[in-house]
Amino acid sequence: MLGLMQQRPLLISTLLTHAARHHGSAEVVSATGSGGVYRTTWGETERRARRLARVLQGLGVQPQDRIGTLAWNDYRHLEIYYATSGMQAICHTINPRLAPDDIAYIVDHAGDSVLCIDPGFAPLLGGIAARIKDTVRTVVVMTDAAGMPALDLPGGMRLLCYDTLMDAGSDDYAWPEFDENTASALCYTSGTTGRPKGVLYSHRSTVIHAYAVALPDVLDMRATSRILPVVPMFHVNAWGIPYATALTGAALVLPGRHLDGASLARMLNQERVTMTCGVPTIWLGLLQHLRSSGEKLATVKRIMTGGSAAPPLLIEAFRDEFGVAIEHGWGMTELSPVGTYNAPKPPQVGLSGEPAVRHMLKQGRVLPGIDMKIVDGDGRELPWDGKQFGDLMVRGPWVCSGYFGDPPGSACDADGWFATGDVATVDADGYMEITDRSKDVIKSGGEWISSITLENIAVSHPDVAEAAVVAAIHPKWDERPLLLVVPRPGHTVDPDSVLNMYQGQVAKWWLPDAVVVLDELPHTATGKLLKTELRSRYRDYYGKTTT
Ligand code: AMP
Repeated sequence: MLGLMQQRPLLISTLLTHAARHHGSAEVVSATGSGGVYRTTWGETERRARRLARVLQGLGVQPQDRIGTLAWNDYRHLEIYYATSGMQAICHTINPRLAPDDIAYIVDHAGDSVLCIDPGFAPLLGGIAARIKDTVRTVVVMTDAAGMPALDLPGGMRLLCYDTLMDAGSDDYAWPEFDENTASALCYTSGTTGRPKGVLYSHRSTVIHAYAVALPDVLDMRATSRILPVVPMFHVNAWGIPYATALTGAALVLPGRHLDGASLARMLNQERVTMTCGVPTIWLGLLQHLRSSGEKLATVKRIMTGGSAAPPLLIEAFRDEFGVAIEHGWGMTELSPVGTYNAPKPPQVGLSGEPAVRHMLKQGRVLPGIDMKIVDGDGRELPWDGKQFGDLMVRGPWVCSGYFGDPPGSACDADGWFATGDVATVDADGYMEITDRSKDVIKSGGEWISSITLENIAVSHPDVAEAAVVAAIHPKWDERPLLLVVPRPGHTVDPDSVLNMYQGQVAKWWLPDAVVVLDELPHTATGKLLKTELRSRYRDYYGKTTT
């Protein structure tokens, strides 16, 4: 017997209409770039998103057309998020930090018919325009008439101004109702190996994910919260924050393109932000600024960090010097993106000092709705003892089933498990800790060594700004860890003193065999260490004669 409850589709437009109706005056604030801000509200955002839907209809956009965006976090990007999905088109966010060749590939693969770009990305677009001219018919520059860049586009591709289109638009649009499983947004993985792959979100997956990230043991969002996502709207939906803030009526503060420590500190304090989210590199930049300027964070209580492992120094420094909790989460493009969050259960409530930091290095417990397991090389499930590490598998209503253009189910196994490519432990309380990407784990004498554990210890050295540990080929042990470090500005690194840090912290055989000091390390377009390049550069470092 089926339940006798109503079938109202979970549509992204309902998040926005809820925000407009019940939190119409709640603020949406955007940095404009010149130190100024643009203030609007959820009520006005809903009205303008309807206007934009009419504008896009006028440009010939049909249901399920892909609308690409190359844009920072601001109110126009937010309007595009809601207008495109709400009118049953697909919001395709593109990471401008990818190589132009990858961007051209992505636009073409996605079949974007319209591209909405910030004026600053005009040169980037100009460079790839010839490659995407068969797909893209219209380029809309997200600015006013005075800010329009000079851009020479191939014949047949028109260049339009966002504000001019909006000024001439009409608000008479009504959000349509359709199947909640309809595709709503598209985001390509950063593609450290091979070509980027498209993850195609649905209205249903996005709305359920918004409910999950708003929960008290995740971002704890309320109508009184003021959230600043540093995490970009051009990648992984800014961790779902543009949707979860509408769901809860929280104020949304969008930082634009200036993400340095000084600009962020100003925005966080000026806009009375209570919670902010981003990758560790951003927080290290903010920390450096706060330390050197003597500024404090007046209202921020919690910072969510994710995207790559949080170094212990970050957690300790913000807690002890600024009274701000750094909270660790994990996710990936294929998970919409949030999968786990580290919030305490009763046994962890009393933790303080070093044990509290040690615990916060874990990426956390799964959000309700996500199922997780770790397996060995033969696919056998491993125990949750916090020690054994294996391949991390997940499944759930906001986990990708197949990549864009591939059949449903092709990205997971017969039971729906998606292999994340991460290697992790899970402890008895269910806290998952990433020890590596499966491709990055070091296999020495048949045993696994975690590069992340070794990197975290290296960056706790006072002279080290950044560290990477990679496997180098070794004639006796197959692979041995090699430590690459970048000194902090104005410091020099003594390799022996860094190696001494490992004493008593890891088994002796985990110690890197050598330390290389570098001026900088390569990063991917999403700020992660580009281990593939480092591995190929240093794989023969130990030479063929080492024993
Ligand atoms: P992306 O799809 O660009 O979001 O990248 C996802 C990958 O980033 C994951 O599979 C992890 O390898 C890594 N990642 C995300 N969050 C964390 C975290 N908190 N700690 C360590 N690695 C992370």
